[in-house]
Amino acid sequence: MQDYIISGTAAEGKLRVFLANTTDMAREASTVHNLSAIASVALGRTLTAAALMSKTLKGEKDIITIQIKGSGPIGGIIVVTDSKSNVRGYAYNPQVDNIFTEDGKLDVGSVVGKPGYLNIIKDLGLKEPYVGYVNLVSGEIAEDLSCYFYYSEQIPTIVSLGVQVDSDESVKSSGGFFVQVMPDADEKIIDDLEERIKTIPAVSELLKNESPEDILSIILEGLDPKVTNKGQCKYQCNCSRERMEAGLISLGKDEITALINEQHDAELVCHFCNNKYQFTEQELKEIVERLK
Ligand SMILES: [Zn+2]
Repeated sequence: MQDYIISGTAAEGKLRVFLANTTDMAREASTVHNLSAIASVALGRTLTAAALMSKTLKGEKDIITIQIKGSGPIGGIIVVTDSKSNVRGYAYNPQVDNIFTEDGKLDVGSVVGKPGYLNIIKDLGLKEPYVGYVNLVSGEIAEDLSCYFYYSEQIPTIVSLGVQVDSDESVKSSGGFFVQVMPDADEKIIDDLEERIKTIPAVSELLKNESPEDILSIILEGLDPKVTNKGQCKYQCNCSRERMEAGLISLGKDEITALINEQHDAELVCHFCNNKYQFTEQELKEIVERLK
């Protein structure tokens, strides 16, 4: 089943909802970065959040970056999405050891670790990007993001993000949803809904047998949900030799000259997809020449 996101409304327009299957995306991230099980879950949840948030972007060139920096052993997580739901990301420590809760579940909160923060950077093509910041509430990511929506965007939001991994550490399923209260609606509607959703299986469990459309009907039963948009989402890096060269140039000619003297050539690795880009001594010298 290919990954996709549906957007919709419910309760006569009082609620806005986004729901995604991101199983392929989480699998791709796990393969590209050779992630441990808990890193697959932590990064997969964040990739899913970015995919869902991409649906709130209006401009074609808009970009959202999610930065999570905690004090746990995963170190941090960076995820970027464009307006077409091409999502990429990485964890600082991709092979971090699994930590389990007392009841045997992967303990994402501990691997992310408090104290810490979650940043949302929205580059909407304006002079300055919009930056929203919250301290981590639990490090479980969904709860932290819900806190971000409430305090930074003033939108009460139910956030559910889930990734299931198999005993061989491969990703079984991944997905999530946001349910948001529209500005003039009573917040009580979301409190009641939150209680009801607690009684429903996790989205990653439902995705094993149900389509996103069916899950929308399950979580918003009785609230007359309507799908208004459906679109693809995928793990996709946008790196290129040109972008890598621009990164080199930004080091400045002194740094590049030092690089030539110390190691003659350079190999740059993209954090998001691990593609390698080689620059020979001659090419580095030409870059320095252009900077003079
Ligand atoms: Zn790349």
